[in-house]
Amino acid sequence: MDVFGLIGNPVGHSLSPPMHEAAYDDLGLEARYVTFEPASDEIEDAIRGADALGVRGLNVTIPFKRDVLELVDADELAARIGAVNTIDFSGDAPTGHNTDAAGALRALRDHDVDLEGADAVIVGAGGAGRAISFGLADAGGTVTIANRTESTARELADEVPGASERGLENLADPLADADVLVNATSVGMEEDATPVPADALHGDLAVMDAVYRPLETRLLRDAAAAGATTVDGAWMLLYQGVEAFELWTGREAPVAAMNEALRSRL
Ligand code: NAP
Repeated sequence: MDVFGLIGNPVGHSLSPPMHEAAYDDLGLEARYVTFEPASDEIEDAIRGADALGVRGLNVTIPFKRDVLELVDADELAARIGAVNTIDFSGDAPTGHNTDAAGALRALRDHDVDLEGADAVIVGAGGAGRAISFGLADAGGTVTIANRTESTARELADEVPGASERGLENLADPLADADVLVNATSVGMEEDATPVPADALHGDLAVMDAVYRPLETRLLRDAAAAGATTVDGAWMLLYQGVEAFELWTGREAPVAAMNEALRSRL
């Protein structure tokens, strides 16, 4: 029996267990996906313990994504993003990866969004904004990072090749010629709010929201009304899990089964 899991605090409402177990069921794998909730000063012991016990892989969520960077051999992309969301224990030492970036790219490509040469506006410069900004720049896009705290956007833009930064005012200006807009803030999760005014949206945009509760955010409703292509946050959540599954098992993930398990719970 192979053991995979999620380490974070809290992890009680996570959708990763049903999503990954749907994949094991679909492929007939003898595996389980369990959640672990260590205290914040126990994370190092937890990672060492998981390694010693033969856990095959762990996803990592809030508040440990940055801490884990120092506790494993992080790959180059995870090091640039500054966060690990997936640990692989199959080698001599645990390795750290960030599948949020590839997950966001796969979510967009799945909706026929061409990323090579795309002009992209990323709203938000926290963990998700960092992963998506590096991912889109690596895929050949040009990134504008817009953040409430402009100094955070500036720090990120200094690290992402070709990127520029701004605050959240006058977003219609960079969006006028943009191909892609991503909301990587938590705005839209708690209340029916959007970080981007509806009149800044247009039909040539692909709009992805990282927020997946609710699935249809106000931003995505406004985007659909403007004739834009819309990509909800469950696609990114799905594909970051798909990427982790494929990294751990070396097998092609049963995407449809994982997607059904996820969406039936949202
Ligand atoms: P984070 O590191 O805490 O960053 C939060 C970001 O939201 C920052 O840029 C922050 O701006 C901005 N923000 C927060 N409240 C705001 C407000 N009222 N107005 C304007 N901006 C505001 O969080 P995170 O991990 O990046 O997560 C962000 C969102 O993405 C969450 O909803 C999370 O659930 C979602 N997410 C989804 C996936 C997925 O797979 N679909 C993966 C990761 C994250 P300041 O810098 O100014 O504070």
